[in-house]
Amino acid sequence: MTILQNRFQRVYGRIHQAEQACNRNGQVQLLAVSKTKPASMVREAWHLGQKHFGENYLQEALDKMDELNDLSDIQWHFIGPIQSNKTRDISTHFDWVHSVDRLKIAQRLNDQRPQALPPLNICLQVNISGEETKSGISLNELPVLVQSITHLPNLKLRGLMAIPAPETEPDRQREPFRALTHALHTLNDQFSLTMDTLSMGMTDDLESAIQEGSTMVRIGTALFGSRHSVQASTEASTGTQNG
Ligand SMILES: *Cc1c(COP(=O)(O)O)cnc(C)c1O
Repeated sequence: MTILQNRFQRVYGRIHQAEQACNRNGQVQLLAVSKTKPASMVREAWHLGQKHFGENYLQEALDKMDELNDLSDIQWHFIGPIQSNKTRDISTHFDWVHSVDRLKIAQRLNDQRPQALPPLNICLQVNISGEETKSGISLNELPVLVQSITHLPNLKLRGLMAIPAPETEPDRQREPFRALTHALHTLNDQFSLTMDTLSMGMTDDLESAIQEGSTMVRIGTALFGSRHSVQASTEASTGTQNG
């Protein structure tokens, strides 16, 4: 068994165990976060059956897509902070965007989505822990943004995403996830929507997220290894600074 195979098996083991513990078997999808990792690793993961990949840095992602354009069925998710001048490339090359947090960005993604492609799947990033420095819209402002976005025909509003402040205690990890799940249900009721995605849970808190209703965990480190040194060199070589 290869190292990557072993890591996928362990992550799926964690997901299935967490699902079982709360009777949510088969409800959680794995998004493999491949930022800073080479295209060769994505290819290897694809051969293991992984089809959904998350990227934070636009140029790095476009380079990988180029190198991997022979892989059918691969689905690219943009999960990093979005600058206005990047929306055209994002809406042209990605299948999902998890990090929409303001109307201006949503409008640009909508206007720039190529007509030949299906509507772009969108999650709204919520600043669930109320950290001043973090991206994401506040819970208070969320209903107005949701209402405006439902009128954009080239976007398909799928749900909410959050990156809570790091906590080690499971009880404290679960709180923000519970709040996000509650927000999704409230918005669905309020606006008669059918949003079906809660993008929450990473390597260190996926069990808590699943327990509180996550439908998509975004896992990097546990699948591809730590990325500290690689990240610095990637940022230097592509000139990106986000994430
Ligand atoms: C990097 C990243 C992840 C993956 O985090 P890990 O702790 O390595 O699993 C998930 N979501 C977002 C938005 C990220 O930027």
